[in-house]
Amino acid sequence: MSSEGSTPGLGVAHDDAAKPWETQRRGMLLLVSSPSGAGKTSLSRRLVSDHSDLILSISTTTRPPRPGEEEGREYFFKDRPAFQAMIQAGDLLEWAEINGNLYGTPKAPVMAALEAGKDVLFDIDWQGARQVAEATPQDVIRVFVLPPSWRDLSRRLHARAQDSEAVIGQRLALGKREIAHWADYDYVIVNKDFDRAYADLGHIYRAERMKPGRNPWLPAFVTGLAEE
Ligand code: 5GP
Repeated sequence: MSSEGSTPGLGVAHDDAAKPWETQRRGMLLLVSSPSGAGKTSLSRRLVSDHSDLILSISTTTRPPRPGEEEGREYFFKDRPAFQAMIQAGDLLEWAEINGNLYGTPKAPVMAALEAGKDVLFDIDWQGARQVAEATPQDVIRVFVLPPSWRDLSRRLHARAQDSEAVIGQRLALGKREIAHWADYDYVIVNKDFDRAYADLGHIYRAERMKPGRNPWLPAFVTGLAEE
């Protein structure tokens, strides 16, 4: 541990355990939307696993679990009365009805993450993204993921073999309605190549983290630099 000087302006020891840029951060909300099958879930989960300050918001839904999905990992699965009770109690940050199922974001984990200075990633549709953006515009980044072609999207939905033909048809129709909202978003990624799309998402996240308003330690740090 170095004993040389202190972090300028902040009066804390200049050692690895006291980096103000790690402890004094204003969390942001990264909202990722796309038509089903465009790769948003894989991109989002990888970004979260690569960044310890980024937490994935786990939604609650009335949709039945798909094969392989686990309670609390993909979603919290609820029946309609339980979901409606959460709406009534004000426990959801946003919610929407999609394809006859209700989906919503539990508020408490998001608030706890923000209070701890963490960022939160949401895999939600355009209706939810709009509600969250209206509630906290300065803390929200919206990213839309597009497939390279509609044929590719259809192929991916068939390849994952999780849904019946009828459900795939519904998802594709819903996807057309979802992409109509692309222009509401701050960034758009065309997921032609996963690694490239993932790199682009990472660049967006890193750049947005560097905005001065998200780094409340900066004014004192710069004052300290000027006084050195
Ligand atoms: P899926 O049934 O394929 O898991 O999700 C269907 C759609 O619901 C996706 O577009 C997904 O992003 C969206 N979704 C998942 N959770 C939420 C949520 O909490 N709120 C909103 N508004 N949409 C959600």
